[in-house]
Amino acid sequence: MTAKALDIPYQLVRSRRRTTALMISPDAVLTVRAPLHLPLARIESLITAKLDWINRKIAEQRSRPVAGVKLFAEGERFWYLGAEYALKISDEFKGSLVFENEFVLSARERGRAKELFEWWYKRTARRVITERVEFFSRQEGFRYNALKVTGARRRWGSCNTQGNLSFSWRLVMAPLEVIDYVVVHELVHLEHCDHSPRFWHRVRALYPQADQCRLWLKTHGPALDLV
Ligand SMILES: [Zn+2]
Repeated sequence: MTAKALDIPYQLVRSRRRTTALMISPDAVLTVRAPLHLPLARIESLITAKLDWINRKIAEQRSRPVAGVKLFAEGERFWYLGAEYALKISDEFKGSLVFENEFVLSARERGRAKELFEWWYKRTARRVITERVEFFSRQEGFRYNALKVTGARRRWGSCNTQGNLSFSWRLVMAPLEVIDYVVVHELVHLEHCDHSPRFWHRVRALYPQADQCRLWLKTHGPALDLV
């Protein structure tokens, strides 16, 4: 149900739980998870008590960068390894799309620019991420089964119980330091299939910058896309 307290609209989700939890979704909507029979007045006074926190979180979500719609126009900028590079449209260029400190796209290929960029990002992500996975596997003795680069939007990486690692090609838009964090995170899942304190302890021991990298992804992640 949707209700309103003090001009803040919120989603109320009741279930067989004992405590009440507030959360702000990525699209800046407040959700309240509450026990089945908790009176509405109690819920609303809880919201009132947390108003500062709620307003701060909503403002944070609203100010996060979002991916702009790409026009594939001259001078437009594209992320690669944590930096943005301009696009040049060339009449003379004989290939399709190439990267040499800038992206160069052949003028006659503009119609399929998005497809070409995706293809370039996928291929580059596979090369960069494979190299990092192999580096950390060698160094720490991890044994994985296979590595796949996918078009996943909601997760940067995953690891299943068969030891298959998957990474989103969008990850290659992030700085190498952040890529390394995601790689270490997934490799540690080969030992711990959860996000338990033991899992995080191991991640931080192998990669002390893990927390800054997580924060970077949270802040910049939504902008790392081609829409
Ligand atoms: Zn994980």
